[in-house]
Amino acid sequence: MDRGHFLKTMALLPLTGFAMKLNQLETITGALKSTDTMPVLFLGHGSPMNAIELNEFSRGWQEAGQSIPKPAAILCISAHWETRGTLVTAMEQPKTIHDFGGFPQALYDVQYPAPGDPALAKVTTETISATQVGLDYSWGLDHGAWSVIKYLYPAADVPVIQMSLDYTKKPEFHYELGRQLNSLRNKGVLIVGSGNIVHNLRMIEWGKPDSGSDWAVEANSIFKKLILSGDHSSLVNYDKLGKAVHLSVPTPEHYLPLLYILALKNNKEEITLFNDREIMGSLSMTSVKIG
Ligand code: ZN
Repeated sequence: MDRGHFLKTMALLPLTGFAMKLNQLETITGALKSTDTMPVLFLGHGSPMNAIELNEFSRGWQEAGQSIPKPAAILCISAHWETRGTLVTAMEQPKTIHDFGGFPQALYDVQYPAPGDPALAKVTTETISATQVGLDYSWGLDHGAWSVIKYLYPAADVPVIQMSLDYTKKPEFHYELGRQLNSLRNKGVLIVGSGNIVHNLRMIEWGKPDSGSDWAVEANSIFKKLILSGDHSSLVNYDKLGKAVHLSVPTPEHYLPLLYILALKNNKEEITLFNDREIMGSLSMTSVKIG
């Protein structure tokens, strides 16, 4: 906001309750004005190498970015940030975190200098009642966030905050927390979950770069049916879905971001799948767009 506009706006405010009005002004300005309901995305991120390879998956993310209105900000729930308690990043300028090992130097050279959004971080803590959400000043953008968001907004001109996964909590908690983010969709915020629905790194098969093992295909098919039919209860209780699903979700962190995204679906909204393929025997890249 320029100074002239600021003074004009201040002149409209009564003198009483000045501090409170200043708070409200923060909400009126810039990033948090009301908008049409933004879509939500779950992106299967796969290998960090996708960050520097233009392939069918990175093209899918590019197209997803081009198919939706440009957001005022992004809130990303990444598989790669697990904490005790839930945190949101609140720094002005998040650093690009290269949280992986053994990859080519070109991947470590990638920077994604999107700004943070401290005001959105604060509003997010106020929006959520399911738990106390803390502000974090030490994380940044991990590769679950930047390796995909760089294709949505290559100019890094959309502010990004991350919300962590509380590893002490059950799937129901994550689904409920997702639901509570709903009002942000009407404030120009694009909510992105980044993980992989089928993700078992111990069972990778290097001889199957472009396909999945039988169990991975079976599990992905079970998941897709439940996603498309809106059976969120079964998806939250995924531990009851049988052996193929057990093999697909040996640890929850890559699956849980999906629950946040599904929880945000309104009844009448369209849901579409893209990048819908299994790779390396034990991963699925299947991504979801709602709205
Ligand atoms: Zn990952």
